[in-house]
Amino acid sequence: MPAVPGGPLRLGHTARLAVLVTAVAMGGVAVAAPAVPSSAAACNGYVGLTFDDGPTGSTTTLLNVLRNNGARATMFNIGQNVQNNRSVAQAQVAAGMWVGNHSWNHAHMASMTQAQMQSDLSQTSSAIQSATGVRPQLFRPPYGETNSTLQSVASSLGMRQVIWDVDSQDWNGASVSAIVSAAGRLQNGQVILMHDGIQNTRDAIPQIMANLSSRNPCPGMISPSTGRAVAPDGGGNPTTPPPGGGTCTATATYPNVWGDRYNTSVTVSGASTWTVVVGLTSPQCVSTTWNGTFSWDSGGTVMTVRSNGSGNTFGFTTMMNGNSGARPQIRSCTAS
Ligand code: ZN
Repeated sequence: MPAVPGGPLRLGHTARLAVLVTAVAMGGVAVAAPAVPSSAAACNGYVGLTFDDGPTGSTTTLLNVLRNNGARATMFNIGQNVQNNRSVAQAQVAAGMWVGNHSWNHAHMASMTQAQMQSDLSQTSSAIQSATGVRPQLFRPPYGETNSTLQSVASSLGMRQVIWDVDSQDWNGASVSAIVSAAGRLQNGQVILMHDGIQNTRDAIPQIMANLSSRNPCPGMISPSTGRAVAPDGGGNPTTPPPGGGTCTATATYPNVWGDRYNTSVTVSGASTWTVVVGLTSPQCVSTTWNGTFSWDSGGTVMTVRSNGSGNTFGFTTMMNGNSGARPQIRSCTAS
């Protein structure tokens, strides 16, 4: 065995395992069996962690805590806060979080007129899209107050309403242990309400994650089609029907994911001649395309794909450029 240089050993996980294996193979000192790497643990279902009311002055701290604990979450942002903290909103997406719409300024929306709702939600989605490159597909009404008009306005803007199954009561002064025990009640597919900007909530995250990994559900994304927590990269994006025009449906899957890039395959049904608009997330960029005619907006974050006679499935390779979490979003499918 080669001599180990002096000084404290600071080996990565892989290097440590290699040393242990070498020692055993040489019939050297007995060593404890190496622990199974945590990444090998299987997920037995998914839960949705959500943080409302950001971005705030402490969002960056929250993102660090989430990242350090291997957690991904959905951030229901307030439009006005996004407009005032664009780079922080962008950091949420760069840290692998999903972003949702939580109204422009946290008003009691159920008492608004339909026109006011429409204006509030669309202004918020535009601010989020402008800052992050991602158009929200989820909407959480402030205070959980809603009605059928608000739901249909959200739906017309391509968003599914998501309330919560478990309220952590962090907004109401809950202690760290109370927040941890609330998260301990989460069952497969369920969603918990927490908030950005609360110290007890941030302090609870390591214990919440330890509890989840002992019970095995993993933090997942909230499906825009069902409102339930699902695997982060699983399934396609539902399509917003085009206004007027012919209908078609485009469904995205991600058949290949590598460390630095991934492939997206989009299948169109209901039309043989079609136009599909896809939203991309900066700094991700498309490097290769196939089976369609592709064009991009000037910012490079919106891609329009037209059928070119090579069938109803097109695809492209996206370079992650440091953002491994984001996936393209189908904005619309129009038959022509
Ligand atoms: Zn709120």
